[in-house]
Amino acid sequence: MQNQFQAKHLRAAVIAACIMASLPSLWGQKGAGSPEAANGTKVDLARARAALAAAKLPTRAEASIRARMEAAPEAFLAALAPLLADREADPMLLYRADKAKALPDRYEAPDLVSLDGKGLSVSKAGLRLRREAASALQAMSKAARAEGVTLLVSSTYRSYDYQTGVFDRNVKEMGRAAAEMVSAMPGHSQHQLGTAVDFGSITDAFAQTKASRWLEANARRFGFSLSFPKGMTEVTGYNWESWHYRYVGKAAASLEAAYFEGVQQYLMLFLDAL
Ligand SMILES: [Zn+2]
Repeated sequence: MQNQFQAKHLRAAVIAACIMASLPSLWGQKGAGSPEAANGTKVDLARARAALAAAKLPTRAEASIRARMEAAPEAFLAALAPLLADREADPMLLYRADKAKALPDRYEAPDLVSLDGKGLSVSKAGLRLRREAASALQAMSKAARAEGVTLLVSSTYRSYDYQTGVFDRNVKEMGRAAAEMVSAMPGHSQHQLGTAVDFGSITDAFAQTKASRWLEANARRFGFSLSFPKGMTEVTGYNWESWHYRYVGKAAASLEAAYFEGVQQYLMLFLDAL
């Protein structure tokens, strides 16, 4: 009994120590007010080069991104700076969440706001997004509507528990391997970040719609980026999802387009290695 009690406490202490040790990497490297804080958003070319090498991108993509970066390093670093400032202010905005990297344990997105009563087309009441993503979505929907395009918002924030239900249902219906290609395991979904949006039918038919074409051409102007592009399964781990966009902010969306071949996962891997 005594041993069990001690073991339990030792386990709790070890878990606490692990959590403490992981905090700096989860919440930004530099504490506010530390001498490095002021330089936290500064990255020189050597550091950018090292991060690109460490990101382990496909060889061809890495070469092409490096060529663009080296062709105009000053411009690249200037375009990168606002992302690092964004990340400093909000580490989860550009947090890499994919098959290999989970969100912080049981992460709950802060500042979620309801999308009801905001002039959006929604598939059901009660959808929520983080405040900044919701504002950007409003602006984007308004711009689309002005051009005669309706963006139907079908799925947004999903909690860890909700995602568990989605994933388990898919496993039951199609088996685990197929389920992993179309849905994220709980704790790995961009929807849990509170910044991802699924539009329209959430099926491949969406790609043929006016809304999809409009998003392809315009989403990045509003800070949204397509997460799982066509032909990128090897890189993203997921089938093509023409309907799934993640809000990353305008600076990230434009850097992604200009230097990272418009592939969000390349940018996320690079930032994560930086
Ligand atoms: Zn989605």
